[in-house]
Amino acid sequence: MRVFYNFDALKKALDSKSKEGSALGFVPTMGALHQGHLSLIKQASSENDIVIVSLFVNPTQFNNSDDFDNYPRTIEQDLSLLSGFENKVLVYVPEVKDIYQNGIQSGHFEYGGIENEMEGKFRPGHFDGVGTIVKRLFEIIKPTQAYFGEKDFQQLQIVKKLVEKYQIPVKIVGCPIYREANGLAMSSRNERLTLQERQEAALIFNTLKLVKEKFGTKSAKEVTEWVQKTFQNNAKFTLEYFEIANENTLTTCIRKSKKKKYRAFIAVFVNNIRLIDTISLN
Ligand code: AMP
Repeated sequence: MRVFYNFDALKKALDSKSKEGSALGFVPTMGALHQGHLSLIKQASSENDIVIVSLFVNPTQFNNSDDFDNYPRTIEQDLSLLSGFENKVLVYVPEVKDIYQNGIQSGHFEYGGIENEMEGKFRPGHFDGVGTIVKRLFEIIKPTQAYFGEKDFQQLQIVKKLVEKYQIPVKIVGCPIYREANGLAMSSRNERLTLQERQEAALIFNTLKLVKEKFGTKSAKEVTEWVQKTFQNNAKFTLEYFEIANENTLTTCIRKSKKKKYRAFIAVFVNNIRLIDTISLN
């Protein structure tokens, strides 16, 4: 594993390492790495000749400055976790000017409406920031395959639309959610929970598993009301949203159809720390 702190240095290494037809895998992250990130890197490593992992806490995708300020930054620990990877893994820690050449601001992106649902609704500007950073990184790195977690399922769908819209020649690979032993989806934000909160946050995935079971016999509305009640009865959690949505359009399921694929999405605050999770329902 080698680390590069600006794009010029990374480009030199890429030019000397890659040959005509090399498969170049890319795993963009905001650092504070955990096993979920590592599962993406392992998959990329097994499917490519070279893998680039970027570590960059992207300011424009935070709609809340406290969240940006408090986002964990653990670069030493990240590099130590990555040091176990073989030489084909190159770590890129961009300088701000590599990404934002004309000041720190995002472009505006539209993807046929999916950007306005859920995370888009509750985190205004978030997907403009995601579009800006992902498009820029794709333009400079030019990967053949890029790996994104299904934990951020809406982001994964948006990135697929982004490459389609701008005809960027990269295959987007979705990777399964990696969970802690109690089922809590791994997240850099879990670091900010106390041990007790981390244990109690198992409620999120336990609820999603029951949602999946209930959705077999009940309507989306009934299941949604049940989830809202479950969280109302628990003072430690504040439910921001729960949605059962069409997996492709991400619009709320009003009436179930056997022909469509559905997914449940949830965002919950535990002591001001925002956690999200999702589960496929059929
Ligand atoms: P982040 O650093 O949070 O921006 O995440 C970087 C990438 O890792 C994104 O594609 C995330 O969806 C993915 N990721 C984060 N947590 C997990 C997890 N628990 N399982 C699988 N992928 C994840």
